[in-house]
Amino acid sequence: MSLATITERLRRAELNAGRAPGSVSLIAVSKVQPPERVAEVLEQGQRVFGENRVQEAQSRWPDFQARYQGIELHLIGPLQTNKARAAVEMFDAIHTLDRLKLAQVLARLAQERGACPEVFIQVNTGAEPQKAGILPDAADAFIADARAMDLPVRGLMCIPPAAEDPAPHFRLLGAVAARNGLSDLSMGMSDDFELAVALGATHVRVGSAIFGARTG
Ligand SMILES: *Cc1c(COP(=O)(O)O)cnc(C)c1O
Repeated sequence: MSLATITERLRRAELNAGRAPGSVSLIAVSKVQPPERVAEVLEQGQRVFGENRVQEAQSRWPDFQARYQGIELHLIGPLQTNKARAAVEMFDAIHTLDRLKLAQVLARLAQERGACPEVFIQVNTGAEPQKAGILPDAADAFIADARAMDLPVRGLMCIPPAAEDPAPHFRLLGAVAARNGLSDLSMGMSDDFELAVALGATHVRVGSAIFGARTG
């Protein structure tokens, strides 16, 4: 598939859901893709990208940023506290705030710099032991804690269990966001982004459907 096809499918999903055209942000997940592929997608006009590793992003985005205006970078992978400084310097949004310690480190960096990327709190909607994220039962308290630290909490993010129908997970994320007055939902990937838009996604994270299968 191509960027144009995915953009068109996203426009149709917005229309079907009664959402304004262009209101859902398409994050092109470029992790592990070769730089030539990323450059192609930049050439096609895409400016919003997602990476899951700070180091990989550091190694290639400064070059792209020098060549293309208006790039917006989103961190969608787990963030270690020792990479937090590099992450806040590099990214416009962090989708993976998943523990108190990281919230504290981000809050300290935000104070020091007088600026902070937009923050999404990752919720482990499937309560999977191996997966990062705040458990749904603990989400209200965690959101309050993060806000009390003056972090710019913009919304919630989830990665539903691979083998399950994602719809109940998207609905749960939406319910937690709504009762906490959060408008933004980072949910939906290549296989389910249209469903996610129908259920309220404001940010979809689409990798392989735009770039092709990841080989690395
Ligand atoms: C890799 C990744 C994606 C993109 O997955 P695709 O199935 O290739 O669209 C989205 N979100 C996260 C958190 C990822 O790690």
